[in-house]
Amino acid sequence: MSVESIPRDLRNLRACLLCSLIKSFEQFEYDGCDNCEEILGMKNNREMIYDCTSSNFDGFVALTSPDESWVAKWLKISRMHPGIYAISVSGKLPPGVIRELKSRGIPYKPRDRTNV
Ligand SMILES: [Zn+2]
Repeated sequence: MSVESIPRDLRNLRACLLCSLIKSFEQFEYDGCDNCEEILGMKNNREMIYDCTSSNFDGFVALTSPDESWVAKWLKISRMHPGIYAISVSGKLPPGVIRELKSRGIPYKPRDRTNV
C-alpha cells in the first residue's frame, strides 16, 4: 500500500468523483488522483479538484489488494490503486469532463449510491 495515498489529515478530505479515492485537498493538489490523473489532471489545479472531487461522501473502505477483494469488485474499483475509497460519493463530474471521458471510451458511472 503506498503511504502517499493515505490521507494524513482528516480535515479537508475529498473523494474523487470518477474513482472514489479519498485524499485530502492538499494531496490531490500535490499528486493528483492516483487513478485518474491522466484523465482529470488535478495536480496543481484547484479548480479541477473542486469540480472533480466531492467533500460529500459516505462510508469508506481501505483497499490493500484490489484484485483479490470482493469489496473492490462490488465497488468496481478492482483495477484501482490501493488506498482509501468512499462507498458513495455525492455529486457529478462536470459535463465537459464526462464528454471527454466518452470521447476516450472511458465508462463513467456516478459514484453516488444513495439513490440505488
Ligand atoms: Zn480518481
